[in-house]
Amino acid sequence: MHMPTFILIAASLLMTVAPVSAAEKHDHSHDEDLPRDLGSHVHGEVLLNLVLEANRLDVEMISPAMNITGFEHAPSTEEEQQAIKKAVALLGDTGNLLALPDAALCEPGPATIETSLMDEHAGSHEETAADHEHDGEHAGHAEFHVTHRMECENAAAIDSITLELFRHFPGVEMVRVQWIHGQRQGAAVLEPDNRLLRFD
Ligand SMILES: [Zn+2]
Repeated sequence: MHMPTFILIAASLLMTVAPVSAAEKHDHSHDEDLPRDLGSHVHGEVLLNLVLEANRLDVEMISPAMNITGFEHAPSTEEEQQAIKKAVALLGDTGNLLALPDAALCEPGPATIETSLMDEHAGSHEETAADHEHDGEHAGHAEFHVTHRMECENAAAIDSITLELFRHFPGVEMVRVQWIHGQRQGAAVLEPDNRLLRFD
C-alpha cells in the first residue's frame, strides 16, 4: 500500500513549520526580567532546524543579525547597506552554511533569506527598558531567517553534517541544532571547534 501523497506533503509541511513555533517559544524566555520579544534572543547563538525526509533536506536557520552583520539597526550608511547585501549573498549559498557527505549527491534547491534589519522598528530603539515595553516586538533587535532545501540522490549516505557557517560568520559562537532524520530525531550544540553533527 502506498501512503496517499497528500499525507506525505502535510507531514512535510508540519515538520517545516514546527521548528518555527519552537523558535517562538524559545524567544519567550522564562526569565521574567527579560522583555518578551525578540530581545530575548542571545547574541552569538543560532538556531538550526534540519529535517531530512526521503531525499529532501530542509534547513532552517534563525540568527540574531548581530552574528551576521555585526549590527541590528536599520542600515543608515552605504557601508551598512553593503554589509547586508554581502550577508544575504553568503546566506544564499547552502555551502556556506553546511557541508554534506559527497556520496549523498545533494543539489541545492530553493532558498529564502529574510531579515528584520530593514524593518522600521530596527534601529529606532533607545537603550531603555521602557522602549522595549512600548515598542513591542522588534524593539532594538533584528534577525535573519534563512531556509534552504536540498535534494539528495543518495540521502542514506548522510550520516553527518559539517557546519561551515562558523567560518563565514565569526559572530556565530554557538549553534543549537534540532534535527529530524527519518524516524529519528535529536538535538545538539555545536561550536567553532566542534562543527560535526552526527546523526546517531
Ligand atoms: Zn539582538
